[in-house]
Formats: sequence, C-alpha cells, structure tokens
Amino acid sequence: MLQTENKSNVYPGFAKIRDYEKFVGASVINNLELLASRLKGKTIQNINSTSVGGGVAEILNRMVPLLREIGVDTHWDVIKGGEQFFQVTKKFHNLLHGRQDLINAHDFEVFMHTTELNIEEMDIYGDIMFIHDPQPIGLIKKKYEDKNRKWLWRCHIDVSNPDQDVWCFLKKFIVKYNASIFSSPQFSQKLSIPQFLISPSIDPLSDKNRELDIQVIDDILNKYNIDKQKPMITQISRFDYLKDPVGVIDAYRLVKKYIDCQLILAGGTATDDPESVKVLAQVQEKAGNDPDIHILLLPAGSDIEINALQRAANVVIQKSIKEGFGLTVTEALWKAKPVVASAVGGIPLQIKHKFSGMLCHSVEGAAFAIKQLLHSPEYAKQLGLNARENVRLNFLLTRHIKDYLLLFLALYNSSDVVHL
Ligand code: UDP
Repeated sequence: MLQTENKSNVYPGFAKIRDYEKFVGASVINNLELLASRLKGKTIQNINSTSVGGGVAEILNRMVPLLREIGVDTHWDVIKGGEQFFQVTKKFHNLLHGRQDLINAHDFEVFMHTTELNIEEMDIYGDIMFIHDPQPIGLIKKKYEDKNRKWLWRCHIDVSNPDQDVWCFLKKFIVKYNASIFSSPQFSQKLSIPQFLISPSIDPLSDKNRELDIQVIDDILNKYNIDKQKPMITQISRFDYLKDPVGVIDAYRLVKKYIDCQLILAGGTATDDPESVKVLAQVQEKAGNDPDIHILLLPAGSDIEINALQRAANVVIQKSIKEGFGLTVTEALWKAKPVVASAVGGIPLQIKHKFSGMLCHSVEGAAFAIKQLLHSPEYAKQLGLNARENVRLNFLLTRHIKDYLLLFLALYNSSDVVHL
C-alpha cells in the first residue's frame, strides 16, 4: 500500500505577507488580498512527487503558507512511488529535456502501475487540482468523478524539444486538464487546452535568500575549509548530468591557468532522482585531488549554507545543458552576484547578456566570461546590481502568487477555460 504525505500544516515561523511590502510596496500586497478574497470557498490542492530537493518543492514550501495566510485554502500533497517508478520518471525527465535514454513498454507499465496505486490511495479534495510535473500527471483520471473540479497541469521543465514517445504518452493526460502552465514561451507546445506562461520565483525572506551577517558566512566557509582570500567560483545544483558539473570543472581549469581561484560545487540529491549518486562519483573522479575544488554534499534543508556560499562567491556559475527555469540563478542574481550561465531554459529570461549577467554556450565561453568578471570587479558589481533589480521587478514570490491567483480566478470567469 502506498502512503501519501500531506504537507499542508508544517510551516513553523514563516514570513508574513506584509513583510514583503519592503520589497514590492503596499499596493502589490493589497492587490493580492483582493484577489484572494475572490477565491473564498475554493480549496487548492497542490500535488507533486517530492517534498524536498529541487525547485518545485522549494516554491511550494514558501508559497503554500502565504496563500493560506491571505485566506486561500491551499494544501500540498505528495504522491508516493518506489525506486522503479522514480527511475522511470527520471527517464521521462531526461527524454523530455532532449537527452538520450532508453525507454520501453515496461517503463510505461511501471509508471501506470504506480499511477493507479496513487489514484486509489490519494485523497482528492481540491476544487482546483494543481498537479506539478509529469510524475503525478495520471491523477487526471480522477477528473470524471466530479465534473466541477478544475484541473491544472504545471510543467516546470523545459519541453521545447521533447522525445516524442514520452511527450505523446503524457499528452494523452495533459489534454484532459482544464489548462496547462509553462515557465517560458519557448517551452509551449501545440495543445488543445489553454496554456499559461508563468515564471517561477524566489522568496527574498527565506533562509536561502535573506540577508546574512558576515559572521554567519565566515563560519560556513570555515566549516567547509574554504579559503576566504582566494576567488570563489560557485555552482549550486543537484548532482545531475543536465547541470553539467563536469563541464564546470573544465571551465574552472581553463580559468585556473590564469587566475588562482577555487571552485565550489555544492548540492544534494532529491528523493525523486536516483541518478545523482552516479553523477557525484563522476564529479569526484574528475576533480581528482585538486585541493581548490570543494565538492560539498549538502543535506536537505541546507538553506543557510546555500545562501552563504552564494553570497561568498565572486562569480556564480550555472552551466546547465538544459534547465527548467533555473531558480539557483535567480537566487544568485537576487544577491547581486555576477552570474555566468548557459543560455538554456528560463535562464535568458533572467539574464540579459552583459547587462544583468553573462550568458555562455560552451566550456570555453563560460571560462572566458568568468575570467573577465574576476578581472573587472567594478563591471561585475554593476551586472550584479542590474540583476537584483530585475529579480525584484519580475521574479519575487509576490508576482508569482498574483499570477496564480489570476489564473485560478480565470478558471471560473473566462469562458475559454470554463468550457473545456
Ligand atoms: N537546492 C537545494 N539543495 C541543493 C541543490 C539545490 O536546496 O543541494 C535548491 C536551489 O537552491 C534551488 C532549487 O533547489 O532553490 C533548484 O531549483 P532549480 O530550478 O535551479 O533546479 P532544479 O533542481 O529544479 O532542476
């Protein structure tokens, strides 16, 4: 029997909605409260596949309590699956991102088997069912039990060039939803249901993003034996091929020929990602015994550590091969850091090249940009300041909540969406 997990009532000591006024002004918050009041009596049930690790859990952790505070009855449940199921969904993830992987009929059977178990076990109670990513997508089979229920499918990944077998399999579920949501215009697909484009966001008051005392940062650097005097290049990411940690080491080695610097590769694993142990081993092998490469395996909940490592960095890198949106990029930009990041997924939405960061397309390009930033601290500082303002205007949690509230209301008020 599968156990599902209810995440709705475990948010001790979180920021209050009015605390965000200092970033976005009172009118934005007033607006959110007004929109929320129009959703009185409606329950929102979020469902995803992991409560820790990765961007989806990160956003839900912060957003659910705020929605509840402004009066939107919001819940979060997590589907359960065994190792085999998550191996299959990881294959889906890779193939949707255009990476090669082998998938066969048995994999689809494994997926459907766990889907059916979750369908049996899960309590479906939302007026709006907010389903995140492919893992729980099959729950839509429950739609026909209650015709008044609205179903949204939120795609957090880059599906601009998906494997057609996997996409066609998922599409059979997607088209049954009332609407879909993608993070960037380039991810949108030809679909018979409405598509909404909503960027994710970060929470400026979370432990991961709030201001830190210099002493806290120093203590964390000491804990990991990182030399404060040597320039730091930092990538924070799950150990995943698509984050290209090996490519990051290659870029660092090119920079190292000219500048005595150090590399920090910090990240953990997500419970729905069985591949990370293999990737971590490859990264460790590639790093060899270079004392200036710090590979830090962070346990879940290392938010202050991540915050400190981002703040201490001279340059933050995100050399992803594919990326959904790239929240780690947003986090670094908010800290006014010069960021060098691949022009993939949602990253170009966040970085205007040479204005609010540097976009790169190769190991050599990344190394060139890092060198330039390390050599020109004033230029790096200006990019960082521009970046922070762009995040303040576009990628904070309050804007994200507003977009979702408008979408929820549209489900009841727009004839286009209602009739599907
Ligand atoms: N993250 C974390 N611990 C880690 C690695 C990443 O908490 O070991 C966080 C990171 O700070 C960010 C999110 O997980 O908030 C990753 O989101 P992103 O969109 O960058 O990538 P994803 O992992 O969802 O592909």
